[in-house]
Amino acid sequence: MDTDVIVAGAGPVGLALATELAPAGTRVVVVEGLAERSGQSKAMNLQPRTAEVLDLRGLLSRADGRSIGRIDEGHFAGIPLSYEGLDTRYPYQVGILQGRIEAVLEERLAELGGELRRGWELSGFEQDAEGVTVRGPETLRARYLAGCDGGRSTVRELLGVEFPGTEATRYTTITDVVLGAGTEEPPTGWTTMGRTRRRRADGSFASVIPIGEPGLYRLVYFDGLSERTEVTGEEVAAALRTFYGEEYELLEVRHASRFSDASRQAARYRAGRVFLAGDAAHIHPPAGGQGLNLGVQDALNLGWKVAAVVSGRMPETLLDTYHAERHPVGARVLDNTRAQGALSASGLECTALRKVLAELLDVPEANRAIAAMITGPDIDYGGPGPTGTRLPDFRIGAGWASGLFHSGHGVLLATDERHLAPAKPWADRVTALLVDELPWPDVEAALVRPDGYVCWTPPGEAVSPALRAWFGEAG
Ligand SMILES: Cc1cc2nc3c(=O)[nH]c(=O)nc-3n(C[C@H](O)[C@H](O)[C@H](O)COP(=O)(O)OP(=O)(O)OC[C@H]3O[C@@H](n4cnc5c(N)ncnc54)[C@H](O)[C@@H]3O)c2cc1C
Repeated sequence: MDTDVIVAGAGPVGLALATELAPAGTRVVVVEGLAERSGQSKAMNLQPRTAEVLDLRGLLSRADGRSIGRIDEGHFAGIPLSYEGLDTRYPYQVGILQGRIEAVLEERLAELGGELRRGWELSGFEQDAEGVTVRGPETLRARYLAGCDGGRSTVRELLGVEFPGTEATRYTTITDVVLGAGTEEPPTGWTTMGRTRRRRADGSFASVIPIGEPGLYRLVYFDGLSERTEVTGEEVAAALRTFYGEEYELLEVRHASRFSDASRQAARYRAGRVFLAGDAAHIHPPAGGQGLNLGVQDALNLGWKVAAVVSGRMPETLLDTYHAERHPVGARVLDNTRAQGALSASGLECTALRKVLAELLDVPEANRAIAAMITGPDIDYGGPGPTGTRLPDFRIGAGWASGLFHSGHGVLLATDERHLAPAKPWADRVTALLVDELPWPDVEAALVRPDGYVCWTPPGEAVSPALRAWFGEAG
């Protein structure tokens, strides 16, 4: 074998996955078709759960340092959603351009000794009982292949995994433009599309958001386009005039493309030794700012599992939990983005529906439920009590529980020493710690996986079977 895992694609998901694999000693090679990163802005936010998972690896402060702002709200189909009531240390969105998130992850990968080969496009692969042979500019062999190669994934295509869903019916144009003042100064301060959106009764809309560099803005508009055509500078100028009159002057179009409302999800996230993650596994419109966030969390779910199997400590069956856990999470995001699409239609009925929903979202509980759905803290992989949910971060002495996860190990926390003693033989994989209290009343102990999700709490069986089930045999 040339390496343990080949990751196809150095987008945010491929890089996040590689940084999860490398610390466990798994040899990883990331292959990326592009010689250099695109300068287009794409995603520009970390939702609260993604901020939490980056914090689990000590990477949030690095991302924060490159942020263009923070806002304590999001939106649902353009209707503002407050994040204030969310049960998280980070009840806000961190504004950060996708390229900067990728840079943070790429730097981390280099520190960990992971390898990234740019200008290396995967063109084929075959899998057999022992591994996967991957073809590109050269032939590489690995035990596993992860297709993190985006919405038009070659890996998914070659794998023949079905990608059911709905076709594109409308195209929204997204541009990075340099704007000057016309009759108004362009807005300053990063915010959501929901706040800046100008919507017309026919369902067309536009929005202008500053993206960090003086004068540089994202101009997004939808004006009824139902086919993908080339974007021209004249068209962008006309759209700016249609929605903003003489308010701003268009000085330059740096990037322009269209995205559609197509929505699809891979029927299987794993086929033998090959996995799909991120946009390769699911595509949907960027409503509410969820795609990158969903994909990075796929990577956190998959990474430690592949590393545990590669190390020989865990059986291959652990890898099936990746699809079992993440497919429903992806399906829920597809549902909520489709619902947002329906709410963006034209007509009096839809306008009335938006008004009703806006009133409902003024009710704090309703707002909190939808905000948690969009931002991830309510993800539940199933199980009794807190099992299957994430460990909410909490103070332990002068630090935070999240700090215990930096190494990528599991964590056992208990308010009673008797739950900790059985974990000694797993000390190389599980950090065990006595704490004064846990985030849930009446819970004495919690075993938490490296991705921050609880996999055992008492009562019931003692912790040893759970340690074995999630971390392998002791010693
Ligand atoms: C305009 C726009 C706005 C968005 N806004 C948001 C937002 O606000 N919030 C949010 O969370 N998400 C947003 N998204 C979605 C987000 O950008 C994607 O979900 C995210 O990029 C997915 O990451 P990925 O790593 O799965 O795929 P990608 O970012 O697409 O990365 C895939 C990588 O694989 C490489 N590749 C492809 N084929 C091969 C091959 N055969 N061999 C080797 N390499 C290959 C590609 O070059 C690419 O670098 C937005 C998307 C768009 C287009």
